[in-house]
Amino acid sequence: MSKQKINKLLIGTNNKGKLREIKSLLPKSIKIYSTSGFNLRSPVENGKTFKENSLIKSKYFSKKTGLICLADDSGLEIDLLDKKPGIYSARWGGKGGDFAKAIKRVYRQLNQKDKKWRNKKIRARFVCALSISSLNKKIACVIGKVEGYISDKPKGKNGFGYDPIFIPLKKRKTFGEMKPSQKYKIDHRYQAFKKIRKFL
Ligand code: IMP
Repeated sequence: MSKQKINKLLIGTNNKGKLREIKSLLPKSIKIYSTSGFNLRSPVENGKTFKENSLIKSKYFSKKTGLICLADDSGLEIDLLDKKPGIYSARWGGKGGDFAKAIKRVYRQLNQKDKKWRNKKIRARFVCALSISSLNKKIACVIGKVEGYISDKPKGKNGFGYDPIFIPLKKRKTFGEMKPSQKYKIDHRYQAFKKIRKFL
């Protein structure tokens, strides 16, 4: 582990929702760069786990820019669907990242599994693997999770992705109904961030 303080950091994501959230978590003393400034495409995510895909991204973006990079790979695991969409969460939205489509696919698959799923509590969790790499070298890689349930219908217009269908444990609102500041205090990225901040 490097003892050197990081004062410049690239956030390795082309997802605006994630960029906004990660920026809000980082200390103000770090100068933050985003991939849009470098006009970089995303790498092929052919890992088998969130951690592998997170490291593919942080190493790829670091090698392309020469900057130390923090990247996230995240997704939603639904127990009744054998933990799908999991690492395929973004891909369920198709090429255009259409989350209405991804959410319809979730409900279609839940209906296929169990017609009465709405009468039950469908356990799910958001998972986030955060990694920091310097060129091809891993500095850190951690996992954060937030447990919850699938809502019987999409609710709320805040956030992105699967936020309108996820209700965290002990809450009544979906992430889509919460203010960003409320979601950011409990979600999977925050849980992962708490573990990785000692490396910053
Ligand atoms: P990635 O860019 O391959 O890591 O894709 C992660 C995908 O998981 C996103 O495109 C969303 O579909 C979903 N996802 C990850 N984090 C969140 C979140 O905080 N809210 C809603 N959906 C999320």
